[in-house]
Amino acid sequence: MAKRDYYEVLGVAKNASEQEIKKAYRRLAMKYHPDRNSEDPDAEDKFKEASEAAEVLMDAQKRAAYDQFGHAGLEGHGGGGGFGGGGSFSSIFEDVFGDIFAGGRGGGQRVHRGSDLKYVLDLDLEEAVRGTNPKIKIPTLVECNECLGSGAKKGSSPIDCVQCGGMGQVTARQGFFSIQQTCPRCRGNGKMITDPCHKCHGQGRVQEQKTLSVKVPPGVDTGDRIRLAGQGEAGANGGPAGDLYVQVNVRDHPIFTREAEHLYCEVPISFVDAALGGELEVPTLDGRVNLKIPEETQTGKLFRLRGKGVNVSQVRGGGTGDLYCRVVVETPVNLTKKQKELLREFDGQSSDKQSPRRSNWFEGVKNFIDSLT
Ligand SMILES: [Zn+2]
Ligand SMILES: [Zn+2]
Repeated sequence: MAKRDYYEVLGVAKNASEQEIKKAYRRLAMKYHPDRNSEDPDAEDKFKEASEAAEVLMDAQKRAAYDQFGHAGLEGHGGGGGFGGGGSFSSIFEDVFGDIFAGGRGGGQRVHRGSDLKYVLDLDLEEAVRGTNPKIKIPTLVECNECLGSGAKKGSSPIDCVQCGGMGQVTARQGFFSIQQTCPRCRGNGKMITDPCHKCHGQGRVQEQKTLSVKVPPGVDTGDRIRLAGQGEAGANGGPAGDLYVQVNVRDHPIFTREAEHLYCEVPISFVDAALGGELEVPTLDGRVNLKIPEETQTGKLFRLRGKGVNVSQVRGGGTGDLYCRVVVETPVNLTKKQKELLREFDGQSSDKQSPRRSNWFEGVKNFIDSLT
């Protein structure tokens, strides 16, 4: 295939400036970049053709040879002719686009994504169970609105670092070796600010209190995180902002403890209620409900109130958990003389059969001691 004229390929005049050539190439490269044109088989060839033309026309020496002798002027020239191998168009692409991409080579300020932030949100159990929509205030670095993040005073702009010439790297010699080091003067930025912005003192970012509204879905628990994309710290030199992670911490509740979707509470009952049975009022997150206690209820017994736990369907799937009430038999205190007499009388009429657990225990202990001898 006969090679087309490079100026024609890029659609620029013979006397086009380097800027115009760069601009024309940028436009074509965006249009024909293979990553964006997987459907079009011709795109890659057009992309290569434009890259080759740009590589030649942006190099003063090669351009002069091409202007004088045409394509023949580049043959055996080491550079332009070697294009067919597809090696160097990536470098011209980077040269032209480097400043768009983070940390582009050869000068251009380093662009850094802002840090992610973590905010611990303390919630009451009720809020965590029902969901809430609190406003939170977070200190964060935001882009300075005076200098739009450049750090340079309005009307001025950062200059290339005088020590590294904008490369961000310096070469130090040690004996035979030369080592690339981050430029100590600009700390790798490649840029220096001669006239700093008065508001951010050249940092490009300022500390501010940001008020955000957080949508906390019902069912969250301690350790859950809610991500607010782009609400972290502003990036350096116009980089994208980080994310804000709101980490939930549920405060201890005076009555309920929680395990995943289930709630637990302890209900003290008198030994009379435990023995005779009865109806108790127990708390749930929605108010009181009645709980029937059968007679001969032992201490520690768990009673399940189905569906009175936490609805976790919005945070981890599944439905609503249960509330477990653990009854604890309380030994009466401050007994009157009369009560003590009644209890002694009661005890006198009791048999071992009425305390099966205790009887079994004594039996077990006796067998154990006998086995020792
Ligand atoms: Zn500023
Ligand atoms: Zn430097």
